[in-house]
Amino acid sequence: MFDEPPKCQVCGRKIEGGELVELQMRYPKRKGFAEVKAYLKLEAKFTCDACSKSKK
Ligand SMILES: [Zn+2]
Repeated sequence: MFDEPPKCQVCGRKIEGGELVELQMRYPKRKGFAEVKAYLKLEAKFTCDACSKSKK
């Protein structure tokens, strides 16, 4: 799904496959799954499980 592995926006660690993450993104205005995929690559910000827990 991603050309480069996504990174945690807090600690910069690479997100591993199957890892639990918190995803933050603006919801796209236009619809369509293909567009959402492209949109995710540009807009999605991940927070790894450890960082999302330490925030709370
Ligand atoms: Zn993190």
